[in-house]
Amino acid sequence: MTDQVIKADLKNMTRDELKAYMKELGQPAFRGEQIFTWIHGNATEFDHMTNVPQKLREQLQERCKITCHEIVTVQSSKTDGTKKYLFRLEDGNTIESVFMKYKFGNSICVSTQAGCRMGCKFCASTIGGLCRNLTAAEILEEVLAVQRDTGERISHIVLMGSGEPFDNYDNVTKFLQLVHDPKGLNLSLRNITLSTCGILPNMKRFGDEFPQVNLAVSLHASNSELRSQLMPVNRRYPMDELMEVCREHVNKTGRRITFEYTLVKGVNDKEENLNQLTKLLAGMNCHVNLIPMNPVSERDLKGTDRKFAEEFCKKLEKRGIQATVRRELGSDIDAACGQLRLNSQK
Ligand code: SAH
Repeated sequence: MTDQVIKADLKNMTRDELKAYMKELGQPAFRGEQIFTWIHGNATEFDHMTNVPQKLREQLQERCKITCHEIVTVQSSKTDGTKKYLFRLEDGNTIESVFMKYKFGNSICVSTQAGCRMGCKFCASTIGGLCRNLTAAEILEEVLAVQRDTGERISHIVLMGSGEPFDNYDNVTKFLQLVHDPKGLNLSLRNITLSTCGILPNMKRFGDEFPQVNLAVSLHASNSELRSQLMPVNRRYPMDELMEVCREHVNKTGRRITFEYTLVKGVNDKEENLNQLTKLLAGMNCHVNLIPMNPVSERDLKGTDRKFAEEFCKKLEKRGIQATVRRELGSDIDAACGQLRLNSQK
């Protein structure tokens, strides 16, 4: 037995939880509101909370913590405003987040797990396996730490960093609740996009609970056999069932779904793939995001050339499937899709 006390993480609490916690400490509920506002407004220490009585601050200091990430490195792209952050967590694990500037505002790509256990063949995030799930506080702190460091407000979030969000459902949805709170970052759920490799039970649940969040599905193949080769998750949740759930999602939410399709040279970029993909997606309210595979040093797979990808895109469009080739930000600092990893200093 250790006598180390586990401190309550106030950053991990919703506003209601924080109010209830204050009550437990014999405090009025409005203190919970005040502290919530401080935490989400970039306070990193109890001493920053000037409208909270000194005595309570001391009490909190003893019993609680406010999770903060240590910045290990920041790499800035020379070609666009992208910045990749390597953060160290309390237990020594490291994660990455990417800050991107767009015309419509600032966006952050957050990680939801340290590592990943999905095993996709083209992705760097899975190479060391899964270390652990991130807490809601740790995901939120990715956003807050980047806001503190850049001094800029973030208006859009994509859950597309390392990890599979639906393999960490409870913490990820709690994070969404936190950033959506009007007394917190007050982000519209419509400014948030979650990307999944297709863990179907949680995808269904998410459609019911968070219909406003944009859903992106990592498809990457035009038939089930090929998908199983590239993405082991397809053996558990096969493509025909995935497509069924996607159709239900579109019907249920009335919203367009995005399919991500990483183009791997000679593997999924052939005429036959184009034909199968067209059949698969015909008549569905969807958009295909084509991403020429970014290099991952441990893998011998290669990305499709950009020009070829653009032709693939045009052909899809001609066949009535909406598609774009994703503009890649931050590839000069290995901050592009599938390049985030546990230890970027490797
Ligand atoms: N686990 C989630 C979130 C990761 S999102 C998911 O699978 O969707 C990262 C996106 O980048 C996914 O669509 C992923 O398939 C894609 N990706 C992974 N490796 C890539 C690579 N090397 N090049 C381009 N895209 C990649």
